[in-house]
Amino acid sequence: MARRGRLPLRVLVIAPHPDDDAIGCGGTLTRLAARGARIAVTYVTDGSASHVKSKRFPPAVLRDVREGEARAALRVLGVRGRPQFLRAPDSGLADVAGTERERIVRALAGRIVSLRARVIFWPWPRDPHPDHVATAQLAREALAACGRHADVYFYRVWLPVRGVADDRPGAAEAEAIDVVLDLAEIAAKRAAILAHRSQTGALIDDDPAGFCIDAELLATWLTPSERFYRALPAQAGTSTTC
Ligand SMILES: [Zn+2]
Repeated sequence: MARRGRLPLRVLVIAPHPDDDAIGCGGTLTRLAARGARIAVTYVTDGSASHVKSKRFPPAVLRDVREGEARAALRVLGVRGRPQFLRAPDSGLADVAGTERERIVRALAGRIVSLRARVIFWPWPRDPHPDHVATAQLAREALAACGRHADVYFYRVWLPVRGVADDRPGAAEAEAIDVVLDLAEIAAKRAAILAHRSQTGALIDDDPAGFCIDAELLATWLTPSERFYRALPAQAGTSTTC
């Protein structure tokens, strides 16, 4: 519960795919939710490219499955804000241009404004996945466009798994913050990740080459703490006019 007399913290999470929020900041989100923060998540791509050879789960079906899984994972974390699905092309976000790109930036900016978000999480801009890099750029443009101030925290998904030295921030770029999780928070994060059953091998069995969060990958993400990089204003795209 929020303390009497204090406004609840308003938090927006911008996720490239429908599981990145749970993976990158699930433990922190469940803590913030328990403390009364108002949290909402926007998913940028539709996540439909994880199993391109599946006959049982063609893209339109998989998209709906993944949106349902995202909702289930948010319930596990105690996040009650209505999710937003922008349904941009999975694995093709970096190539999106023109009016479709403008639509995404406008939607993100509108979300920041309508939620009056004071804290925004989005991927570290060099998280080693093209959709994550593109999401960070789109989010940065959206925040700059809407002319609001927000504290921006970059979360990591692929950096701990396959990052190289060049992907990591220098001291002049961002400040590292470690949120140490308790056992219940780690358990909630684990359950939230596993709620994405299409990504764990629990649902789709007709595309062996499809993406799968195996035990090793899960262990890599279920560390005792979550590391964030707090953005400096130049990285956040924060306007200084408001
Ligand atoms: Zn992702």
